[in-house]
Amino acid sequence: MTSNDLQVRYHAVCQAIETACRAAQRPIDSVRLLAVSKTKPAEDIARLADLGVREFGENYLQEALDKQAELRDRDLIWHFIGHIQSNKTREIAQNFDWVHTVDRRKIVQRLNDARAHCATPLNVLIQVNVDDAPTKSGVAPTDLTGLVEEVMDSPHLQLRGLMSIPDPVSEEALIASHQLLASLLATLKHRFPQAMLDTLSMGMTQDLAPAIAAGSTCVRIGTALFGQRTPRSER
Ligand SMILES: *Cc1c(COP(=O)(O)O)cnc(C)c1O
Repeated sequence: MTSNDLQVRYHAVCQAIETACRAAQRPIDSVRLLAVSKTKPAEDIARLADLGVREFGENYLQEALDKQAELRDRDLIWHFIGHIQSNKTREIAQNFDWVHTVDRRKIVQRLNDARAHCATPLNVLIQVNVDDAPTKSGVAPTDLTGLVEEVMDSPHLQLRGLMSIPDPVSEEALIASHQLLASLLATLKHRFPQAMLDTLSMGMTQDLAPAIAAGSTCVRIGTALFGQRTPRSER
């Protein structure tokens, strides 16, 4: 993608965030943009970084490590937003600033152990299965508290909030899923007032506005910024 195309797209996304914030009567700086760069080349990331974007989300570990190496000179914040395989936890813990997709005890323990040698704790979001779909990743809402306590008891992890990838079955269902995640975070904040629970990671290209209306503080935007992706199997 050319720099110019990226600039146009980036400004459109900023505009959409601003419009959604205004409609929801929220301050514009209450929502951060996470640029989801999976399958896209390091040069696209560099171009967006030139425009002032600092936070990037990646789903596939090896691809992310390759791009991080290419962009080593840049001061970027890396978020891991893909499914976590337990044999990848060490490299995830050591090469990312945030992980959005923590959803089971074993992963919490392994990330904590692997992060131990790093100076700062790893920022963690717990992924919640807001649609209660049996095949999907994410902890069931009923099992959330146990996992929250596990993360809070991990000295090398800093629990920052919750994340979801709701099924876009219908607009009503999406809104209900966003509201559920927001209310789960509100309950946690009430229960753990000392914790730094400031992040609600929800909203992608298709549901940015309803997610912001429901209280999202971090929208994860891929397609609207970088264009359509070629499926992995066809690359
Ligand atoms: C790919 C991806 C996104 C970005 O999705 P778009 O619809 O392209 O904006 C956001 N979050 C997660 C977890 C993803 O895997």
